[in-house]
Amino acid sequence: MSIIDALYQDAILTHYRRPRNRGVPPTFDIEQEGVNPSCGDEVTLYLSIDNGKLASLSFTGQGCAISQAAASMMTEAASGRSIDDVRRLALAFTAMLRGEEPSEELGELALLKSVAKVPARVKCAALPFVTLLRALEPLT
Ligand code: ZN
Repeated sequence: MSIIDALYQDAILTHYRRPRNRGVPPTFDIEQEGVNPSCGDEVTLYLSIDNGKLASLSFTGQGCAISQAAASMMTEAASGRSIDDVRRLALAFTAMLRGEEPSEELGELALLKSVAKVPARVKCAALPFVTLLRALEPLT
């Protein structure tokens, strides 16, 4: 199996074809756009914050399978966690994309590990998480 084949594992394609938490929710607290010009990927995140927690996270966007699957996986992994946990998750994910071993809390997101071997696609997988960190920046 080539590296590119490995990238398009079933789980990634499933998230791309049937994304979770996709769409603009009726109410939200923070809206944050992100773009990856090198591939043309776009994501917009919608966050609801409640009592120091990321109560819900939805997204809209377009782009390659990796960027959109990563966004879908991220919404499942990050929803319901404390803001600190969400930041830690995002940093663990970007560390994995730099070649570090995935930490346990990444769960299904560890499936995107092979992206680290394809430098051109690292920004695709990182886009949703970089955008999420930016959205959380104003929160202490
Ligand atoms: Zn892309």
